[in-house]
Amino acid sequence: LFLTLEGLDGSGKTTQAALLARFLEERGLRVRLTREPGEGLKGVRGLLEEELSPEAEYLLFSADRAEHVRKTILPALREGACVVSDRYLDSSLAYQGYGRGLPLPWLQEVAERATLGLKPHLTFLLDLPPEVALRRAKGKDRMEKAGLAFFQRVREGYLHLARSEPGRFVVLDATRSVEEVQEAIRARLKAFLP
Ligand code: C5P
Ligand code: MG
Repeated sequence: LFLTLEGLDGSGKTTQAALLARFLEERGLRVRLTREPGEGLKGVRGLLEEELSPEAEYLLFSADRAEHVRKTILPALREGACVVSDRYLDSSLAYQGYGRGLPLPWLQEVAERATLGLKPHLTFLLDLPPEVALRRAKGKDRMEKAGLAFFQRVREGYLHLARSEPGRFVVLDATRSVEEVQEAIRARLKAFLP
């Protein structure tokens, strides 16, 4: 089972991923908790501070993802573990596609090869207004530099992706408490578990 969490910076992905991993372990499943960017190529997070062209940014994230899929995600799935990833391809479609304006067909074409076509079974989209996300993620200067309009586009992009694949996406209102969001994730997951 391959599960991903998506959403704006400050939407609570990391917190929810950790709680979700613990829940699955308590149910006797083996879990590999992982994240992007940086699991595939350790140095990629350092490069985020540079002002890169959207193309360079996307190709870097894709290289990171290609390694992530081959060295972490697929091996774990083959061993029968449940993989929980804090961000995956939808982050690039939302941030570099909708946010920075790269054409989706090109992103999809590169991604098909980079990910070997691997898609999550379920993707939890932690949706919230950018104003709230910015407030929560305060101090991340990368975010403050990008500005509200950028995150508005990213949010709309995520919602658009979710509407185009309703079977995979679960959209959750991330303005609720940590406990409420986690409860909603678990409720949706029950159908998938033995
Ligand atoms: O909070 P997180 O660990 O997900 O931070 C990763 C950073 O990289 C965030 O600032 C996020 O906005 C950015 N990012 C991006 N495009 C992606 C994935 C992450 O700009 N595809
Ligand atoms: Mg996080």
